[in-house]
Amino acid sequence: MTTVRTRFAPSPTGHLHVGSVHTALYSWLIAKKYKGQFILRIEDTDLERSESTHVQTILQSMEWLGMDYDEGPYFQTQRLARYKEVIDQLLKDGLAYRCYCSKERLEHLRECQLANKEKPRYDGCCRNQHEFKDCPFVIRFRNPEEGVVAFDDLVHGHIEFQNSELDDLIIARADGSPTYNFCVVVDDLDMGITHVIRGDDHVNNTPRQINILRALGGKEPLYGHVPTILGPDGKKLSKRHGAVSIQQFRDDGFLPHALLNYLVRLGWSHGDQEIFSLDEMIEYFDFDHLNNSPATFDIEKLLWLNQHYLKEAKSEDLVQELDAQMAKAGVSILDGPDLVDLIQVQKERCKTLVDLAEKSRYFYEDFTEYDEKAKAKNLKKEVIPVLQSVLTKLELVSHWKAEPLHACILQTAEDLDLKLGKVAQPVRVAITGGSVSPPLDVTLELIGRHRSLHRIKEAIQICEAGLLH
Ligand code: GLU
Repeated sequence: MTTVRTRFAPSPTGHLHVGSVHTALYSWLIAKKYKGQFILRIEDTDLERSESTHVQTILQSMEWLGMDYDEGPYFQTQRLARYKEVIDQLLKDGLAYRCYCSKERLEHLRECQLANKEKPRYDGCCRNQHEFKDCPFVIRFRNPEEGVVAFDDLVHGHIEFQNSELDDLIIARADGSPTYNFCVVVDDLDMGITHVIRGDDHVNNTPRQINILRALGGKEPLYGHVPTILGPDGKKLSKRHGAVSIQQFRDDGFLPHALLNYLVRLGWSHGDQEIFSLDEMIEYFDFDHLNNSPATFDIEKLLWLNQHYLKEAKSEDLVQELDAQMAKAGVSILDGPDLVDLIQVQKERCKTLVDLAEKSRYFYEDFTEYDEKAKAKNLKKEVIPVLQSVLTKLELVSHWKAEPLHACILQTAEDLDLKLGKVAQPVRVAITGGSVSPPLDVTLELIGRHRSLHRIKEAIQICEAGLLH
C-alpha cells in the first residue's frame, strides 16, 4: 500500500486564515490516521505579495496549534531550477509552447469574446507557431482540446470538466517565472502527494492541474475540496466578521486545542460528539461525514469549547500564555499571587485567557472604581458592623490561608446572626470591587493580607461617608 502523503501549501501573502487551517487540519488528520506524512510547503512564488513575516507567522501558528509536519517547510522559491527543468522538458516534448501574443492582442480578443457573450479564453493562436521569435513570450501548456477531465472528489463526489472549456494555461510568465498552477503540480508530483486537500475555491484549478500532471506522466492524487467557511451573514468569513487569523485567535485568548476541536466539527460530525481529544480526531475523522456545503462560523460555540478546555487544562500549561495576556492588559504580576495559583481559581469561570486576565486585575492592582451596582447594594451603613467584625477577626489571623479566613467569615455570620451571604458579599465587594469572584476564602488568600485588610478599611470609610450624607 502506498504511504499517505498530504500537504498544507499556504501562500505567505497575508495572515494565516482560519479557513486555511480548517483544510490543513483535515490534511494533517488524514496523514496521522494512516500513519503517513504531512508536508508543509510555502507557496511563495508571488514575489510581490509574499513576505517573510507572513512565513514566520505561518510557522509560529502551526507550532502553536501543535500541527507538526514530517517534511518541510519547502519553499517554492528554492525550487525554481526544478520548475525550469520541467518547463524545458515540456517544450521539448511539444507539450508546451511559446506564446508571443501581445497584451493588446489578448485584450482585444477578450473584448470580442465578451461582446459575443463567450467565456474569455486564449484562442490558441501560437499553438502551431514553431519558429523562435526574438521578442517577449510566455509559455503555455498545450491543454488537450477534446475529452473530459474527471475526478472523484473526496467531499463533492464525481466532478468533470470538458477540455473544450479549458484554455492553454500560462505556465511561465514573460520574465520566466513559473505560475501557481504549474508549480503546484510539479511539487505535488515530486513530493509524492497522495491526497490534495484544500479549499473548494481551487476546484476550477484541479482539471488544469490534472492535465499538466498527466502530461508529466504523474499519477493523480485523490482530491478533497473542503467547503468555504461563511460568516453569520452568509458571506465568506472575513475580517469584518471578527477574528479570522490564527494569530488573532491566540491574541484573543483562545486555546489551540479548542480551536482545533471547533474546526474539526465545522462541517464534519461523528454522531453527536462535540468534544474530541486529538487522538479521537485522528481516529474518527473521515470524508464520508464531511458536509459538502459551506459551514457557518459560530463564535459562541468556539467560546463554549474554549471554556471547556480552559477548565480541563493543567494550570501550569496556561502560565506562559496568561503571562503574555497580563502584560498585554498592562497588569504587572510582580506584586500578587503566582499565576499558577491564580489560574487554578479563575480558569473555570472564564471563557478566554483575555477574559481571565481582565477578571484578575484586582489580585495585582489596587482599584478606586467599584462596580456601581455592587457598591450601592453592599457598601452601605448597615454593613459597617459586619465589615468591622470581619476586619477584627482577619487582623488576628496569623496564617493567611483559605481555611482560617473562611472561619473568620463564618464566625462573623454566627456572631451577628446573619446568613453567610450577608457577610461574604460586602467583603467580596470590598476586596474585589465587584460582586463576582472565586470563593471568598481563596480570593482573600490570593489577594493577600495587607491588601485585603486595607481594602476592607477603605470600604468601611465608603460606608461611613455614605452615612454622612
Ligand atoms: N497556495 C494555495 C493557497 O494558499 C494552496 C494551493 C493548494 O493547496 O493546492 O490557496
